[in-house]
Amino acid sequence: MPWPGPKSPVIIDCHCHAGIGDGLTGPWDTRAPLGKYLPRAAQAGINRTALFAAFHSDNAAANREVARIVTRNPGRFYGFAFVDPKRDRGRVFRLLRTAVEEYGFVGVKVHRHDARITREVCEAARAFSLPVLYDVMGEVSVCELLAQEYPDVNFIIPHLGSFADDWRAQLALIDHLARHPNIFTDTAGVRRFDLLEQAARRAGPDKILFGSDGPWLHPGVELAKVRALNLASGAEQLVLGGNFLRLIRDAGRARGRVGMALFARAGVLEMERGDPWAGEYAHA
Ligand SMILES: [Zn+2]
Repeated sequence: MPWPGPKSPVIIDCHCHAGIGDGLTGPWDTRAPLGKYLPRAAQAGINRTALFAAFHSDNAAANREVARIVTRNPGRFYGFAFVDPKRDRGRVFRLLRTAVEEYGFVGVKVHRHDARITREVCEAARAFSLPVLYDVMGEVSVCELLAQEYPDVNFIIPHLGSFADDWRAQLALIDHLARHPNIFTDTAGVRRFDLLEQAARRAGPDKILFGSDGPWLHPGVELAKVRALNLASGAEQLVLGGNFLRLIRDAGRARGRVGMALFARAGVLEMERGDPWAGEYAHA
């Protein structure tokens, strides 16, 4: 049963890459082809997908390419704008304005591999009411600060906090999911099923989104994990699409005083600092 009928609930994959990267390190910065992803998703009953670029040294170009894919089939795809907090410093607001106003994108993607998230990114996301999908690469403690400083911005921390399956990080993320209303996660690539189950139980199904990390992971295999949680049908539907739709409900709606001056200031304030007491921990 490939495509759901009109009464079937929508299934949304909130995490899939698309387009060509400009590196040759690995698939993640080289190419994210949808040729196999789409029939696999169709076979699994996944009828909508949020797309963002592969790693790219020029996110303006990468986002433009994703926009071309999204606008060819807007009923099938949503677009997220990839921003690099460091390389795009000072132009994040402009990138998001283009993404929202010209491409109709509904979210932001940030990866710790590029740089740590900054106030500039959070404030620009807030200005356009966009959720931020931020891969923290195990640095889940930042959720405490994001929840405290930006309670009105929603953050999706993919892979339960660690694509590398760092058990400590994933366990710690569940605490943030449970305590902070604006911290969410996705199921993409999570292998430790007991932790996924624990997240659903402690944080609730309204804090978890189905995501596949396609095209590199098989969307049907990833979807099977959500089914295996054996949630009540209403709760499962939240994970499979309801939560995503709620998070993008206001996407693109300008909020507060949206001005370039504000963002110029945010850009200046942004500084990457190490932990000044890092040396002390060694002696503790
Ligand atoms: Zn990914």
